[in-house]
Amino acid sequence: MPDHAPTPDPSVPEDYRTPHAPSVAKDGGPRRDTREEKTGKKRRLEYPPAPEPLPVPVMDNHTHLDFRDGLVHVDVHQAMDAAEAVGVVGAVQVACDVESARFTVQAIEAEPRLLGAIALHPNDAARLTARGEFEEAFAVIEELAAHPRVRAVGETGLDYFRTREEEGHAAQQESFRRHIRLARALGKALQIHDRDAHEDVVRILLEEKAAGGLPPHVVFHCFSGGPDLARTCAEHGWHASFAGPVTFKANDGLREALRLLPQELILVETDAPFLTPHPHRGRPNAPYLIPLTLRAMAEARGEDVADLAGAVAASTRTVYGEF
Ligand SMILES: [Zn+2]
Ligand SMILES: [Zn+2]
Repeated sequence: MPDHAPTPDPSVPEDYRTPHAPSVAKDGGPRRDTREEKTGKKRRLEYPPAPEPLPVPVMDNHTHLDFRDGLVHVDVHQAMDAAEAVGVVGAVQVACDVESARFTVQAIEAEPRLLGAIALHPNDAARLTARGEFEEAFAVIEELAAHPRVRAVGETGLDYFRTREEEGHAAQQESFRRHIRLARALGKALQIHDRDAHEDVVRILLEEKAAGGLPPHVVFHCFSGGPDLARTCAEHGWHASFAGPVTFKANDGLREALRLLPQELILVETDAPFLTPHPHRGRPNAPYLIPLTLRAMAEARGEDVADLAGAVAASTRTVYGEF
């Protein structure tokens, strides 16, 4: 953690240290699992040291500050102080359900360096539909998304990795269409979560485009496609936002996609507290770690860090407006 932020203390409450800690923090907020999603290995829970500051400031266009992780509690002001100290001067706080949508509105009203994005996450949409609670939840999202500092509808989309059943996919597709139309009606950006569902995401976007048009800006959050999806994004002027995985050794396809995109369609994000960039993979993530991802992106593209940072900051303002 950066100098001025609290130092992890070995005498922290026991629920921060037990393996498989509950998915809810003591104050009721959601928590990241203390084990790796893929390997099941215990994660290191100390925040990584602050990276070298960026020469040109940027914004993190996708983070979840309501999600707890690590050995210390970091509030939204501390998170943004730590970020600003390394040249990350703003962030988009993203909600996935009604509870985090309410958190998001409070956070953006309390912290001027934050903007908001609000939606029902595809996995939540599937669960809510199965329980007959989708409409009620979506009505709250519609209302809160109208807030002037909520600048995007998201994260919405399709997740065929976590939701496996056919009915779940159908519910996600219907929810995705509803969110696309909401963003269009509000004139706000759309943030897409696309996990193992590239084909259907693109198909639905194009169907909605033909039927009534798309929102003013379309962003693939945590872009996970290869060169084909990058070409599709470039063709339609859709933005690709890159997170920690672009720094992982194995992800050559992701870096190839990154190289194919025009600079003005590239964004950067943490998806914190998840997807911590190399070399701190598995530890807690937060907006102050953006410089690690942005530097890796500049290197992959053979560009100057300041040049890419300037372009990313300009695109972030194009999509979300002023912070
Ligand atoms: Zn996502
Ligand atoms: Zn996310």
